[in-house]
Amino acid sequence: MSRTLIENSRIWQEDRFVSGQTLIIAEGFINARRPSARIEPMPGDRRIDGAGAYVLPGFVDVHLHGSKDCDVMDASEASLQGLCDFLLRQGVTSFLGTTMSDTRERIEAALAAMRAYANRPHSPFLGVHLEGPYLNRDYRGSQPEAHLRAPLAEEYLPWLDSGQIKLITLAPELAGAEALMKAAVERGITVALGHSGASYEAMHEYIAEGLRQITHTFNGMGPIHHRQPGLFVAASEHPQVSFQIIPDGVHVHPAVVKLLLRLVGSERVLAITDAMRAAGLSDGEFGMGDVSVIVKDGIARDRDGSLAGSTLTMPEALRNMMRFCDLSLAEALPMFTTVPARSIGIYPQKGSLMVGTDADLVIWDEERGLQATLIGGELVYQTRDEFTAAIADG
Ligand SMILES: [Zn+2]
Repeated sequence: MSRTLIENSRIWQEDRFVSGQTLIIAEGFINARRPSARIEPMPGDRRIDGAGAYVLPGFVDVHLHGSKDCDVMDASEASLQGLCDFLLRQGVTSFLGTTMSDTRERIEAALAAMRAYANRPHSPFLGVHLEGPYLNRDYRGSQPEAHLRAPLAEEYLPWLDSGQIKLITLAPELAGAEALMKAAVERGITVALGHSGASYEAMHEYIAEGLRQITHTFNGMGPIHHRQPGLFVAASEHPQVSFQIIPDGVHVHPAVVKLLLRLVGSERVLAITDAMRAAGLSDGEFGMGDVSVIVKDGIARDRDGSLAGSTLTMPEALRNMMRFCDLSLAEALPMFTTVPARSIGIYPQKGSLMVGTDADLVIWDEERGLQATLIGGELVYQTRDEFTAAIADG
């Protein structure tokens, strides 16, 4: 059994970092964590010198359409591969490929491409987040109006039955949405509300029916009004509901991100990028599904001026979250790991560094940020040559 030892680092232990330990990886899993002084090296051990950096679980992004000129709606293996390669360089070791509202044919082509791509070793691709097409046109944001429709069982049942969908974003007030929610819950798919104008009163019902998450909170939904509290206030009252937030400082003002945390607690907030194909590229004009998007100063908008996804990456999001809310790394981190993983039922296998879980992790330097990514115990990305030099056999 060949082992990888990560030494000289501060290792994440559920809610804090612990020094003086060595993390032992074997066969792709976290095998043990031991006091460094008591480690006996074995022949064939690979050793990584963490150089005092932090060792964190890899980031989990449940809402991401694309990056680096790739988009899941391209429905191609090359595009999915390009996206996965980029994400590993951003420390993302788990993500859900997120679809856009589109024709049945194009959504099915995207699903088929993702099905064919699934289950590769050392891939961050985990499954699908179906965003739309069952959304409320009054809150569509940049979701193309022509492709929004009421849920139709004959269309969605084969999608849900494919087993690849882990999360669905829908507007629960649409005719037929109740049956769709029921079908999703029965199949273990997490139901999120998004692009919706649900009322405060109705929201309690939807939560009783199984709604568990709010998609890009405050974006694409009715606002809070002191006489019409709306869906957000209702959701905040139910501890089983978690909240996606895009911490780019554009989609939601930093002060409101801070307010959200103060109100519901960081254990109910999950950071997402909602990134589209322009993430990782310079400004320009791009397609997002059926929508054409202009990116200026890193902000993506459609022709009507609606925000159309982001160009955010997880390392930027983490730094922003720490800055906006005045949090330490240990305080901000669960919103990028534990909470998203738990929200789609994959915690602690993903999103933790507990013994027995997948060895998906990130080495993070306080000043320089991301230093390296390991997935399934394999070092797939590193920023510096010194880091390579620190790896030696035996
Ligand atoms: Zn959206």
